[in-house]
Amino acid sequence: MHNRKVAQILYEVADLLELEGVEFKPRAYRRAAQAVESCPVPIEELVREGRVTELPGVGKSIAEKIEEIVRTGKLRYHEELKKKLPVDLYSLTQVEGVGPKIAKLLYEHLGVKNLDDLERAAREHRIRTVPGLGPKVEEKILRGLAEARKTEKRVLLGIALPLAENIRDKLRESGLFQAVEIAGSLRRGKETIGDIDILGISNRPGVASDFFARLPDVEEVLAKGPKKTSVKLGDGLQVDLRIVPEESFGAALQYFTGSQAHNIRLRERAVSQGYKLNEYGVFEGEKRVAGRTEEEVYRALGLPWIPPELREDQGEIQAAEEGKLPVLVEQGDILGDLHVHTDWSDGKGSLEEMAAAAKELGYRYIAIVDHFRFAQAIPGLGPDELARQIEEIRELNGKLEGIRLLCGVEANILSDGSIDVPRELLRELDIVVAAVHTHMRMPKGEMTKRLLAAIENEDVDIIAHPSGRLIGERSAYEVDWEEVFRRAAKYGTILEVNANPQRLDLRADHIREAIDTGVRLALGTDAHHPDHLAFMRYGVLTARRGWARARDVVNTLSPDKLLEVLK
Ligand SMILES: [Zn+2]
Ligand SMILES: [Zn+2]
Repeated sequence: MHNRKVAQILYEVADLLELEGVEFKPRAYRRAAQAVESCPVPIEELVREGRVTELPGVGKSIAEKIEEIVRTGKLRYHEELKKKLPVDLYSLTQVEGVGPKIAKLLYEHLGVKNLDDLERAAREHRIRTVPGLGPKVEEKILRGLAEARKTEKRVLLGIALPLAENIRDKLRESGLFQAVEIAGSLRRGKETIGDIDILGISNRPGVASDFFARLPDVEEVLAKGPKKTSVKLGDGLQVDLRIVPEESFGAALQYFTGSQAHNIRLRERAVSQGYKLNEYGVFEGEKRVAGRTEEEVYRALGLPWIPPELREDQGEIQAAEEGKLPVLVEQGDILGDLHVHTDWSDGKGSLEEMAAAAKELGYRYIAIVDHFRFAQAIPGLGPDELARQIEEIRELNGKLEGIRLLCGVEANILSDGSIDVPRELLRELDIVVAAVHTHMRMPKGEMTKRLLAAIENEDVDIIAHPSGRLIGERSAYEVDWEEVFRRAAKYGTILEVNANPQRLDLRADHIREAIDTGVRLALGTDAHHPDHLAFMRYGVLTARRGWARARDVVNTLSPDKLLEVLK
């Protein structure tokens, strides 16, 4: 039973409960589903060791349900709920424009149970006949369907990257390879990945391929040969290993890193300069003039090396030519995490534990921004608790060495754009993060107004996960981004790049637009567990894909400078 499968059932329960008009519970199930999905440890292991409640957001009652799913492969509670709506709600709600309510309408009026039914209904223009829906909704669903089909089999960066690195390291340690590198969209840091591409140099390709095909994670060997071996891992992810000659390793790495659009642009450039470029090298007639390293390949074409994250044909070749490539932010530039939860709200680490884990990472500060409780049933701090936490953090800062905790809160942006934390308390804090956590399906104009109100609120420093998307699970709010970026730049409000692999929010193209508008960014992991602080790398990769430099990111600043900016 894979984590993803368990999460799917919990997500469906959340949707089904929401349809019944149940309050608060859907949110609890969704949180639990997210925790299971992003948990780096197989859920079976946690069940075996009785540690399910260690997952952030998972209490005793949901833990029991998770145990039941792992034990029996299903959940009675889920089956019971599903009787009223026997459809593949999980897949259907992946489609932009289809929420649980519309899925229910489509089932009741058209008998739509799965993606195939949905596609047929949309193509035959039957969706517009459903009361309350119309041609606009139908068009949106058709577009969403194409997108959903594309992402159906994709895996989050945060899941694929550790898997690929693990395989790469095993290959390196085998002593059978002179070099091993990860290529493909994974090397470019894309938020979701279709499959894993690995390149190697080996003078014993037969043995090396055998070794790869016999790795413990491999469930099925799809094809095997001295040049290319393809396997499938336990969770269905495909990995291709190509063994290439040393003299063309750089060219192959360039070629298989992509993107396709970048490579086409580069090939055109080669041709215009009288060269031929392919996966074997740069050729002048029959003669290879470059290929051993990527630097060599780019240099032969009159360009500096271009970081993989930029290779999307978004102007990077021209920038390289003009010597205007940005010096991208790096993990080492990050001096702290600006979005950390603790066991004061729904996190699983104490203040001390989060501080110790951050210090271990070499950070100089972290911002403690536990949730504020705006409704009884949602775990978070009330005003008195927040006041107490502020005192405790101040006391702790007196004792801690080498790391500083910033007092903060993750406030809720209410429907009218106001903030739910009392003003006197906000004034006590070093940092105020605000985010939308409720009423996410507002019309574009209203949602934009709501965000703008928070941006203009002088007590708010950072807007967290500004688009609200959960990759493959919930689409972003509809927002006029241009206006949001303009206003954030004007009021000096910082926008977050949430580094949680399921969020990566803002996303890369929005990051670039925001920076161009003059907006500053904050990287935060939204850690609910000490281990989650390691998500920072996904935020850094995403920021790099958005052309972010160290100076665009406020948590590259020293603690004192940061506090000055936050004032
Ligand atoms: Zn949040
Ligand atoms: Zn948070």
